[in-house]
Amino acid sequence: MSEGALSRRTERVINAVTPFISGMRRFGAMGPDASDFLAGNPQEIASREYVETLQGWLEPRDKRWFAYNMAHRPAQEAAAAGLGAELGLAFTPDDIFVTRGAHHGLVAALNVVVDVDDEVIFISPPWFFYEAMILALGATPVRVKVDPATWDLDIDAIRAAVTPKTRAVLINTPNNPTGVVYPPETLQALARVCDEATAANGRPVYIISDEAYSRILFAGTRMHTPATHYPRSLLIHTYSKTSLAPGQRLGYVALPPDAPDRELLRMGLMASGAGTGHLGADAVMMYALADIEPMNVDLVALEKRRDWMVSALAEMGYETNTPDATFYLLVKSPVADVLEFVDRLAKDDVFVLPGTAFEMPGHFRISLTATDRMVERALPVFAAAIEEVRAAV
Ligand code: PMP
Repeated sequence: MSEGALSRRTERVINAVTPFISGMRRFGAMGPDASDFLAGNPQEIASREYVETLQGWLEPRDKRWFAYNMAHRPAQEAAAAGLGAELGLAFTPDDIFVTRGAHHGLVAALNVVVDVDDEVIFISPPWFFYEAMILALGATPVRVKVDPATWDLDIDAIRAAVTPKTRAVLINTPNNPTGVVYPPETLQALARVCDEATAANGRPVYIISDEAYSRILFAGTRMHTPATHYPRSLLIHTYSKTSLAPGQRLGYVALPPDAPDRELLRMGLMASGAGTGHLGADAVMMYALADIEPMNVDLVALEKRRDWMVSALAEMGYETNTPDATFYLLVKSPVADVLEFVDRLAKDDVFVLPGTAFEMPGHFRISLTATDRMVERALPVFAAAIEEVRAAV
């Protein structure tokens, strides 16, 4: 490799994503009968409803059908209404900026408020690309761990991490990978920290709230957003999870109804495309948004699969959580080296994500988007693997 071939920023981004890439690529190609618990990906053919929706909008109605188009009013209206019903806030269509999924929304939001050399506090365990996104802006990621007992935000640790350079706190609720939905009291306490930081720093500190899983909630769980407590929040939403078609990129950034500097933020979001090249979503996805808005995965089946796996794994002697939300189950590795254990499972075509990919090296993550057949096939493998660990001591 020649010295200086890449920008120093890109070199840092590569370092930041290496644990995830190696976690994902560890196993090479999977056989057709593999039990794939790696990521929140579809494991079955997409629903007819979804496919026909896209087919319907693909047919041009006029000559401008595929023209450059940064905003599409019916999409903004549908998203504002859907999010309003979900969060109990009255969103304005003008405050919805349609994006290519949550990932684009996160980059757009960060880009609009964060300067080079600003600090962005993010929470560990994080989503895989937070650090990379912050580094790519030339800003400084500041990692704060969750409370180890509850996996809730550690408000004192966040307060202690604030400096005069702090510009934003990036949180993710419901949380991937822990399955925790941060309670209103925690969000209120976070709002207080950000108010104090705003006053101390003499410029606004934002909460960027990644709410990608806001509709993947199990029975008895309610979504809470920091926007209820802190108007300087930028909310990141996506249809990747509810439609379970993450390759068809669609999401949005929403500004709360009482956000200060709304006009400026709107303009910033619109203009961010000029600097980043991300000009909103593709035309067909914008047209389809209103139809995709009410769709969701089969939450009853997902919850059944969660309960089935939690009880089967517990019976074998594994320690797992019972997530309140999201697609994921966290399992404690029965051996110190999680990579050794995930390799053992992979030997029998059971693929799970090692915690080295998300800063929890004592755990591995199971995605519940796998099919019941995959679970059935995998359970005896999980049983045999933990038996071998027991036999070895
Ligand atoms: N945030 C979190 C927490 C995620 O888990 C994901 C997807 N796995 C994303 C953002 C990105 O979502 P999208 O596909 O909408 O870009």
